[in-house]
Amino acid sequence: MPKDKRKKAKPTANMWQNTAFLVAEAWRGQEKKVPLLCLLLALCGFGASAVELYFAPAILAGIEQGASIPQLLQTILFFTALLLVFTTGRAYCDGNKRYGRVQLRMLLFGKTAGKSNRTSYPNLFDGRFQMLRDKAQMGVLQGEESPCDLVWEALSALLQNLLCFALYLTLMTALNPWLILLVAVTSLGGYAVNHVMSGYEYRHQDELRKIYTGLGYFSNQARSSSLAKDLRLFGMRPWLEEVYQRMWKTLWYFQKKNCSGLFWASVADLVLAFLRNAIAYSYLFYVLLQNGMDASQFLLYFSAISGFSGWVTGILAQTVTLYRQSLFVGMLRECLDYPEPFRFSEGAPLDVDPEKPYEIRLENVSFRYPGGGEDVLHGIDLTLHAGESLAVVGVNGAGKTTLVKLLSGFYDPTEGRVLLNGQDIRQYNRRDYYRLFSAVFQDFDTLPSSVAENVAQQEEGFDRGRVRACLAYAGLERRVEALPRGMDTRLGRRLFQDGVELSGGEMQRLMLARALYKNGPVLLLDEPTAALDPLAEAEVYEQYRAMTRGRSSVYISHRLASTRFCDRVVLLENGRIDEEGTHGELLRRGGRYAELFQVQSKYYQEGEMEP
Ligand code: ADP
Repeated sequence: MPKDKRKKAKPTANMWQNTAFLVAEAWRGQEKKVPLLCLLLALCGFGASAVELYFAPAILAGIEQGASIPQLLQTILFFTALLLVFTTGRAYCDGNKRYGRVQLRMLLFGKTAGKSNRTSYPNLFDGRFQMLRDKAQMGVLQGEESPCDLVWEALSALLQNLLCFALYLTLMTALNPWLILLVAVTSLGGYAVNHVMSGYEYRHQDELRKIYTGLGYFSNQARSSSLAKDLRLFGMRPWLEEVYQRMWKTLWYFQKKNCSGLFWASVADLVLAFLRNAIAYSYLFYVLLQNGMDASQFLLYFSAISGFSGWVTGILAQTVTLYRQSLFVGMLRECLDYPEPFRFSEGAPLDVDPEKPYEIRLENVSFRYPGGGEDVLHGIDLTLHAGESLAVVGVNGAGKTTLVKLLSGFYDPTEGRVLLNGQDIRQYNRRDYYRLFSAVFQDFDTLPSSVAENVAQQEEGFDRGRVRACLAYAGLERRVEALPRGMDTRLGRRLFQDGVELSGGEMQRLMLARALYKNGPVLLLDEPTAALDPLAEAEVYEQYRAMTRGRSSVYISHRLASTRFCDRVVLLENGRIDEEGTHGELLRRGGRYAELFQVQSKYYQEGEMEP
């Protein structure tokens, strides 16, 4: 299997800091029972182990000292009662630990989801942020197998191992301190060998994850309805099957190596355990023969020797587990603390009033997408005057959408500034700034809720009359009225059997209604007629004129004819403003705009003549 040569990012916090973070989150989030049960579980585990260690030797000592039957029964009763208390305590903790942990996981999931929803827009395309967010969310969604839960398991087990280790250490010291060294060294050696040999899966976990992601992706695609047509029409099945088979083969090879590592790790462990026990028990017999020893004492030491190595390896194993699981917690913390390039609550507040005039100016703006090779926009100087309706046109890839993303504050320019009424927008709370815009973007999605809720973007307390008016404005009123439950009909069948699927054009109208409902003082429409038929398109142009009256608006289109009703047209070419003026002025100028317009109108006229 090829080795992943990418350098792994160093964890930003250590194991104890990450564990402390989790404890603090539980404490602050009113889930105090999680760390408390974790502690109680360790104490009960230790108590039960201690009772088991002393139980048989204590009875044996009683018999040796000629204790009466009632006395022996009393000892048995005492130990049994103790064992009962500890095992019941352990069972109680085991049974109840998951409730608080579920809450804690949901709390952390809510935090990462909240961060993802609120973070600065560019972060959503930042590879490291994406990785941290995905790992953090996957990490809390795996139920009791989630690292966030396993940290508590490891912490509990580590604490129990440490307590038992201390108890056994006291016993072993009384026998012979060298024995401690022997058991500790062989246990550590065994653990190290085991760790190296059985760590294949852990060392290759990223590759394994990729294989499983790939397998999952392909099996989903094979079942997906969106690919069903292409699969049949383009004969994609053999190609898909070949890729799928290749992935299975890689997985098989991986599992083979992993199993062989695990087998040899067990063999090495057994050999070392045999050597350790042989030496330790021989020494115990030697002491027994040389100095004599009570049977009860012999039994106690015998149990201590056989148990001690378990606690040593237990401490190591649980420390490693805690370390591994805490790496996830570290990622979760890094995700939550991910730096924000935009200002939010710490920025200046912006009081947005739909009745006020707003002017937005791009001042010598250049822009390069993060990680992009070259600038997409070059030295743009453009002002959207208050109340003006501006059309931005140009061929595909000219930079129109990018320009709107800068205008609406989704990205900051690489060079230059964006000014709102003369003030740099970077000083403002970005969430306030977004309130300026009512927008219809090319890529959009709806929520699986009612038509009305999708228009109003809230579940309750919205103005139904206004929703109806906006739907009418967007030309969707009659279609919505014809739905089984009118504007209360739910959209999409992903969650609801009775949901309706709207066509692409209807969806675009719905987005228009949503933008109108928001009533932001600046209207942004990015190719809002792309999915509409010519009649509907003409209708939208008419409505657009009415909608934008008195408002600042930007209308993006590659259809030049659609810009006639705008106050001003800007033609973008390769990320630069090539021409600027009204539709009529640009046609009269006879430049690039006029040329493109000629080509397009010829095409449409010819298209109309087609049978
Ligand atoms: P238009 O809207 O005029 O079709 P865009 O603004 O979408 O053009 O794209 C302008 C250029 O920016 C194109 O070359 C496109 O490939 C590039 N681009 C768009 N989005 C990204 C992105 N997220 N990362 C890198 N490059 C991008």
